[in-house]
Amino acid sequence: MQVNTIKKEPVKAQESNATERACTFEEVVRGYSESDALKEASRCIQCKDPSCISGCPVGIEIKTFIAKIAAGDYDGAYFTIRRKNNFPSICGRVCPAEYQCRKACVFTKKGSPFASPGAINIHFLERFIGDHGIKKNLDVPAEKDERLSKIKTAVIGSGPAGLACAGELARHGISVTLFEGLHKTGGVLRYGIPPFRMPRDILDFEIDSLKKMGVDIVPNRLIGRIKTVEELFKEGYRAVFLGLGAGIPSFLGIRGEDLCNIYSANEFLTRVNLMSAYKFPEFHTPVNIGRHVIVIGGGNTAMDAARSALRLQKLNNIAPDTTIVYRRTEIEMPARRLEIEHAKEEGVKFRFLVKPEELSGDEKGFVKKLRCLECTLGSPDGSGRRRPVETAGSDFEMDCDMAVIAIGLKANELLTKVTPELKLDKYGDVVVDKETMATSIKGVFAGGDIVGGEGTVIEAMGMAKKASKAIVDYLTEQCCSVR
Ligand SMILES: Cc1cc2nc3c(=O)[nH]c(=O)nc-3n(C[C@H](O)[C@H](O)[C@H](O)COP(=O)(O)OP(=O)(O)OC[C@H]3O[C@@H](n4cnc5c(N)ncnc54)[C@H](O)[C@@H]3O)c2cc1C
Repeated sequence: MQVNTIKKEPVKAQESNATERACTFEEVVRGYSESDALKEASRCIQCKDPSCISGCPVGIEIKTFIAKIAAGDYDGAYFTIRRKNNFPSICGRVCPAEYQCRKACVFTKKGSPFASPGAINIHFLERFIGDHGIKKNLDVPAEKDERLSKIKTAVIGSGPAGLACAGELARHGISVTLFEGLHKTGGVLRYGIPPFRMPRDILDFEIDSLKKMGVDIVPNRLIGRIKTVEELFKEGYRAVFLGLGAGIPSFLGIRGEDLCNIYSANEFLTRVNLMSAYKFPEFHTPVNIGRHVIVIGGGNTAMDAARSALRLQKLNNIAPDTTIVYRRTEIEMPARRLEIEHAKEEGVKFRFLVKPEELSGDEKGFVKKLRCLECTLGSPDGSGRRRPVETAGSDFEMDCDMAVIAIGLKANELLTKVTPELKLDKYGDVVVDKETMATSIKGVFAGGDIVGGEGTVIEAMGMAKKASKAIVDYLTEQCCSVR
């Protein structure tokens, strides 16, 4: 293939207009047209020793799939990605590429905290190819092992980890039952990430394709409460995968946090996304949206909560006033850069270097004010980011009749607490063998946010892929070895 060494301007993905989109929950990024994708793919200089692959948590052969796009072989590009990633349409939309593959791209300036603007837009190319695969209903051929066809396995949790594991096991011809505690599947992809970032038809397509592969999806089944892992084994399941996620919100621990109209981001986003509060009264889960909404935090969850709150204000004819309060500066924010940019474009306000101190309310117990302290940045902490240092006497108050706390999530304990043989670390995360994702219980594997805490969609899928391979090996050894 002829390599193009001229560095051209990066191709921006098409997006809907900021003013119009902030009144709807429709998808913001429209992605690449075919000619956009071809242009962007032709910017890749096909490095002899590509660094981008090392930035991808699952090691997608980025150089190869981009070369295939440039050559017009979209099916080939799809199968190249699918070798490592089950859901390119999802990852192409939500992966924090600027901290991963794009940051490792040769066009990113050395030492930059995230990808430079000139880095190849690998995520948009991946999305283009993922959507091509959906349109053409492409699928990776199954590698069915007849010996495994009668073996029952259980996958618990239907987030990215559970979905990826179930898909891989089904491809090997193994019988899979996917148990989900909620009434709908998808985990954070459905209850956390709003439709303006993750359209539900894409998610539904991916989940339907699992059903077509024979995965039995059983919602409304909270394992650990209605039955234990031990009981699953007694029922004939030979291996269990735990994809329980990190669903327990962290709180600030400040005075007034229990006032009315203060939500964890999880509850707020679940009401809006899973229970369709944005479609009220068509759906009967209203959110009592405030006039002065404050979202506390700096990650993707905070951006999603703020952008959702602003949309709800507009849909309810309230003059938009949604502010993100963050203790550090924009550089240290862990959110995807694109989400920060989109939030700003849509009208979300930002207060940096501000630490919440106390929430206070009216005589009926509804929140009214947030008292804060200004901060400066000190020396780096364990995360490598500079620590916020409070400025004594800098107190000030902000109007706040609704607050959303988005400062992180902890391990979901519903199952782990009732499974004493399962080894956990000090954070309540499941301890696994890093190579096989095997837990301390024979035949039980785990992956995603329940292992190692809050991570990313692609990391969860990568762990699930590793676990599924180990489960296939385990079942082959357990059930098929000649005795
Ligand atoms: C609001 C928000 C925005 C995010 N944005 C991004 C982003 O843009 N990009 C990115 O890469 N990452 C993002 N993340 C992180 C990413 O979504 C997670 O890392 C990923 O979803 C983890 O996948 P998982 O399968 O481990 O868990 P989850 O997605 O949490 O799924 C776990 C599932 O298990 C179910 N479950 C739990 N316990 C049981 C039980 N006992 N029985 C039955 N079912 C059970 C839960 O109901 C849930 O459906 C975001 C996270 C949040 C909260």
